[in-house]
Amino acid sequence: MSGFTTRSIQPRFLKKDPHGSLHMPIYESVAFEADSAEELEASFRGRRPAHVYSRISNPTVEHFEQKVKALAGAEGVTAVSSGMAAIAALILAIAGQGDNILTTRHIFGNTYSLFSSTLQGWGLETLYADLTDLAAVENLITDKTRAIFVETITNPQLEVADLAGLAAIARRKNILLIADSTLTPPYLFDARQHGVHIEIVSSTKYISGGATSLGGLIIDYAAYDWRHNPHLAADALKFGPYALLNRLKTRVCRDLGNALSPHNAYLQSLGLETLALRAKVSCANTLALAEFLRGRPQVRRVNYPGLPDAPAYALAQKQFPNGAAALLTFELADRAACFRFLNKLQLIRRATNLNDNKTLIVHPASTIFSEFSAELKAEMGVPETLIRLAVGIEDLADLQEDLAQALEAV
Ligand SMILES: *Cc1c(COP(=O)(O)O)cnc(C)c1O
Repeated sequence: MSGFTTRSIQPRFLKKDPHGSLHMPIYESVAFEADSAEELEASFRGRRPAHVYSRISNPTVEHFEQKVKALAGAEGVTAVSSGMAAIAALILAIAGQGDNILTTRHIFGNTYSLFSSTLQGWGLETLYADLTDLAAVENLITDKTRAIFVETITNPQLEVADLAGLAAIARRKNILLIADSTLTPPYLFDARQHGVHIEIVSSTKYISGGATSLGGLIIDYAAYDWRHNPHLAADALKFGPYALLNRLKTRVCRDLGNALSPHNAYLQSLGLETLALRAKVSCANTLALAEFLRGRPQVRRVNYPGLPDAPAYALAQKQFPNGAAALLTFELADRAACFRFLNKLQLIRRATNLNDNKTLIVHPASTIFSEFSAELKAEMGVPETLIRLAVGIEDLADLQEDLAQALEAV
């Protein structure tokens, strides 16, 4: 099999383009016609593979899904309108009232809100565990637990999930292991090799190629026996390992209307082609900046799992051999020092995103986590002293210079 970047550039179209286009064109059309009433009937009944209506499927979106599938070594991919849409659709497909999902409070703030507020209101419970304590995780699981949901590297705590350990628990309990690997998409992380059943990626981040567009991916490795999930057990008899993929396409995504736009699919297909190049540079920049910041007297603590003395270093090396993601955090004396520092930056942008080509910085406690109480923020590992740096692909010396001059102001 060829290398990652070769595979990301070379996949063929499912149908030959009439003009020999090298890029999949943007099919900005809602509906697709059939030659006869019989053909249209066959398409609606799923007997003739054809695009009918873009909320359900679209050639440009399908091509993007095929590209991700080839890169991840997956069995099927569903691309939707955002990372949050991907998580919501997946959970709605696999769980319902009276069920529970096991996760952690050290999780992306909007995902936490989805679980603890939105879905809770519909009768789905969330169990919160310390995912670094595998025995505690296993003890919390009940016969209503449908999945363990983790982030490969949590944001902004930068805790690294022990996926082999979690996969062993999921296997013993016959439940699904879902990993949100937005921080470590394919190239940085091989989900299948680490026992993940379903991988979620916000393609808004690394894959969009510089924060060009919103998108989300549900990547299915067809590794779970759906007979163990009461919502999909009947479908499993018919579709086997493809029960979830079928349910998402033919019902959940169709009914939710969370389709990825063809234009965004086009941008993200382009983004995939340079994913490995950009990831290499931004991960190398992050490690260098972590070392640089650690040497500064104003900086109390630097957190990056790629630092050799970080608690999660060995695990990060094993799971993410191509780079431990492009996100680091560090602490200054107090909130006022953080604000003074942020306000002095000239090159680095004050904005809340990650894996842009630009380096972005944010004070999580006063922004992403501002809706949570002080106690909850403490429990979520977001102190007032914390700064999050999402590192881009600029020249390292320029980033160092900007950080150094702003630290002088602290
Ligand atoms: C950004 C992000 C999401 C949500 O993705 P959107 O595309 O913004 O909806 C989910 N999980 C993680 C870890 C993220 O960083």
